[in-house]
Amino acid sequence: MSGILELKNLGFVYSQGTPFEKRAVSDVSLSINKGELIGIIGHTGSGKSTLVQMLNGLIKPTEGEVLLNGKNIWDEPKKIRSVRFKVGMVFQYPEYQLFEETVYKDIAFGAANMGKSGDELDQAVKSAAEFAGIKPELLQKSPFDLSGGEKRRAAIAGVIAMNPEVLILDEPTAGLDPMGREVLLSRIVHYHKEKNNTVLLVSHSMEDVARFADRIMVLDDSRLVMFGKTKEVFSVPDKLEKIGLRVPQVTKLTQLLRQRGYDIPEGILTVDEAFSEITAFLKKEGKIW
Ligand code: ADP
Repeated sequence: MSGILELKNLGFVYSQGTPFEKRAVSDVSLSINKGELIGIIGHTGSGKSTLVQMLNGLIKPTEGEVLLNGKNIWDEPKKIRSVRFKVGMVFQYPEYQLFEETVYKDIAFGAANMGKSGDELDQAVKSAAEFAGIKPELLQKSPFDLSGGEKRRAAIAGVIAMNPEVLILDEPTAGLDPMGREVLLSRIVHYHKEKNNTVLLVSHSMEDVARFADRIMVLDDSRLVMFGKTKEVFSVPDKLEKIGLRVPQVTKLTQLLRQRGYDIPEGILTVDEAFSEITAFLKKEGKIW
């Protein structure tokens, strides 16, 4: 089965051929299946933003190809706008792009640009607002009257209203307080489950991606150094730490226990999992009952 998105030897160099030449992405090949939630992690400057901007045709690869449903997105450069509707992108701090007089109009903006109108547009806006957790009474307010978390969710709703086949979110929780982060992440996960859409989540928070992603891409210095199931990736914490990524603390703790002879599986990602595995071990050892 071929994936919804396939990257073939994808690469990007900024200002190629000038003294300011800078390689941002090197030779990335992989395939993403429809309906997957993919986490993309890597430290600042590893190439995450550049990579995802190539996936919706915002920047053109200097090497390799991006295939969407089997077709190179640059085969017909004039149609690149339609790719941006199919692969929706939420940039970092998207709330800075809110500019209409009402939240409703802001959410409607992209979908209207795609040609939606009337009832179809209205339905798209209301459904997107609901997915993003924007209450109906907020729709007629000015976006500037919303809280930080609400503004972020309104901006995301604007992309969801376009009903993209693939939704890419670049650091969606950056700058939010813990409560705002939780609300936003649960909304994204709910949207993904309900719609069975493909979602790519760029994050520097290992905890966030560990909890939700089906598979994780790890980038380091422009290269894809790992791409696998979340448990597999987190089962090699030493490798992650070597490239400057901090694994979830609970994963580190259970790894230390393993090293001390506790028979606990690798790649534990959540506190709940750790609790049940540690108690199961202690019961087996007759330490608790
Ligand atoms: P990340 O999203 O992981 O922080 P980026 O894709 O933003 O990584 O950056 C990858 C590399 O490309 C970095 O070295 C960065 O400095 C460089 N870079 C990013 N944007 C530009 C640009 N517009 N011009 C030149 N270099 C850039």
